[in-house]
Amino acid sequence: MKLLNNFIARTLPIVPKPIVGYFSAPYISGEKLEDAVRVARKLNNLGACATIDVLGEHITKKEEATAYANQYLQVLDTIKSEKLDANVSLKPTQMGLNLDRDFCLQNVSMIAQRAKQLGTFVRIDMEDNTCTDDTFRLYQQLKDTHPVGVVIQAYLRRTDADLDMLIPIQANLRLCKGIYVEPHAIAYQDREIIRGNYLHLLERLLEAGCYVGIATHDEYLVWGALRLIRRLNLPKDRYEFQMLLGVTEALRSIIIKEGHKLRVYVPFGASWYAYSVRRLKENPQMAGYVLQNLLKQPSRL
Ligand SMILES: Cc1cc2nc3c(=O)[nH]c(=O)nc-3n(C[C@H](O)[C@H](O)[C@H](O)COP(=O)(O)OP(=O)(O)OC[C@H]3O[C@@H](n4cnc5c(N)ncnc54)[C@H](O)[C@@H]3O)c2cc1C
Repeated sequence: MKLLNNFIARTLPIVPKPIVGYFSAPYISGEKLEDAVRVARKLNNLGACATIDVLGEHITKKEEATAYANQYLQVLDTIKSEKLDANVSLKPTQMGLNLDRDFCLQNVSMIAQRAKQLGTFVRIDMEDNTCTDDTFRLYQQLKDTHPVGVVIQAYLRRTDADLDMLIPIQANLRLCKGIYVEPHAIAYQDREIIRGNYLHLLERLLEAGCYVGIATHDEYLVWGALRLIRRLNLPKDRYEFQMLLGVTEALRSIIIKEGHKLRVYVPFGASWYAYSVRRLKENPQMAGYVLQNLLKQPSRL
């Protein structure tokens, strides 16, 4: 399987764009904001809420970051005018983190201010390890005055220690395994260790009363999370499950049917091609998922 994944990921750049588009379609709502709105509405009708992401990251010019920031303002206004149950997720490098930290802060702060006025929320995604400290700093600069949350990654060795800083400030967190390929020196590589660490971190956060977005499609972790929720007798407004568009939809329905809040990550934008190719090259395992899901005939929601 590993060989096949690597083969698919490596040959992807020479695959014609429409074919990449076909493979990526279940995971991306489309190129335009109307596409994200259509998908978010369908999800709302199915009992799920959404987080809308404008595709784009690692920009190289300030004007690009400004354009993305303005697009996010438009997304927030549209969420309000279309009465969607949705918030937004953004990437710090898309807002200029690698160019100028203060400029990035201004951009995210402007978006978070609009979210506050409109009564919604901004999730700051976590990127590769070169961004971790700056992303936590960004979050800390905004959290007392704006409706923002951040993301932690269970594969990073540092995350348990990061909770010593995040728990006392009652951080609003999304907990995920982590998507970037990181070296052994800083990240666990073994699937079972990452799973164990995920549940360990989740237990610490839920026991401490932090709001957690439990972001996973791994049924073992969903099972572990449900056990913890029951043991701690947690009210439903202290956590939510989160999944990516087009992934494990059957599990998504089970969680919703059991009465838990579930949010789906809905990416859209013109950068879908670059995003799909980069993700697949970064993490060839995804190529296998795409293939498996395609064989299972995923829906195009
Ligand atoms: C809402 C959300 C937000 C996220 N935000 C971030 C972030 O900010 N930073 C970050 O580093 N990572 C983020 N991730 C990605 C996350 O770190 C994992 O890489 C991803 O969720 C896969 O891990 P898993 O827990 O689902 O377990 P896995 O064991 O990897 O997956 C379980 C099963 O889910 C299916 N599956 C998982 N991923 C995919 C996929 N991409 N395509 C098709 N099928 C798939 C497969 O059937 C697989 O067997 C996010 C994930 C979610 C759900």
